[in-house]
Amino acid sequence: MVKDQANIIEVEGLSKAFGKLTAVNHVSFAVRRGELFGFLGPNGAGKTTTVRMLTGVLEPSGGTATIQGHDIRSESLLSRAHLAVVPEEANVYLDLSPWQNIMLMAELHSMPRKQRIHNALELLDSLGLADRKHQKARTLSKGFRQRLMLCAALVTEPEILFLDEPTSGLDVQSARLIRRIVQEMNLKGLTVFLTTHNMEEAEKMCSRLAIINNGQISAIDTPRRLHSAMRSQQFVEVRFLGEPLPTLELQSLPGVSSLDSTGSTIRLYTETPGRTAAEIACLAKSKTLEIEHLCTRKPSLEAVFLYFTDQNKKEPAQ
Ligand code: ATP
Repeated sequence: MVKDQANIIEVEGLSKAFGKLTAVNHVSFAVRRGELFGFLGPNGAGKTTTVRMLTGVLEPSGGTATIQGHDIRSESLLSRAHLAVVPEEANVYLDLSPWQNIMLMAELHSMPRKQRIHNALELLDSLGLADRKHQKARTLSKGFRQRLMLCAALVTEPEILFLDEPTSGLDVQSARLIRRIVQEMNLKGLTVFLTTHNMEEAEKMCSRLAIINNGQISAIDTPRRLHSAMRSQQFVEVRFLGEPLPTLELQSLPGVSSLDSTGSTIRLYTETPGRTAAEIACLAKSKTLEIEHLCTRKPSLEAVFLYFTDQNKKEPAQ
């Protein structure tokens, strides 16, 4: 039974073990109707496994989940009735043309002929496949196969679309087009569950993001709030020629939250790295110190995931 009508997907303590490996470990979250929900995590975090469980490909080892209020295990058919999936690897029928692939998908969903032709023509056109609609899918590039996967998923007019790393390894043009179409469909009311390890993609597209690392959710929030948490992980690195190092002065520069050093390299954590770099230059001038190295750095994706995982350990999610 769905607890909140605003939620189209509800997941409670969902787990999946492969032998000794727990790929998804007691994961809980909810996706609201009409939202573009991002599921962000590094390689091997458990994203695909979660999608596979939610879409009925894999049997969970524990926990529950509902889609449109239907339990994914006891009401598997109903829970899958209005969803479509674009898996990580395009799995189109290579000996069929885009047109045949799309028609086949629509027929499997018993879509009336007139409607399926109308939808297919519109989608092929908007995804730049109209000219290629009768050539074998085998001859399409990876980008065009992925566009075809999206057409085949959308032709059935799903209410929820699961996209597993839809732009991974694609040419820029295909990636951009896929993002745009997904956003447009979302504005028309489609709920989207997007897995990605591309932080920028997630930030730009999603209204909310869940960060998953090592099979566990470490943060769920809006991109804006997650981003501002991440800002505290930016730093400026500096190395001076000669001694003594002005450690105390650096520590007390405006905006510097903490400092650490490895050998003669000093790292200053700050939310405003550009400003801090300028302050360091002023300090060096006033103390006639020569700067050997100065650069601003953003945290790596790995550092961001670890940061949220560590935060989560300190302050368990409510
Ligand atoms: P990626 O971004 O690389 O696709 P992911 O976040 O989607 O990663 P999953 O594919 O869900 O990660 O994998 C999570 C963990 O479960 C990994 O350690 C993976 O090797 C393991 N795993 C996934 N599927 C299986 C399987 N069928 N049998 C055994 N282990 C598996």
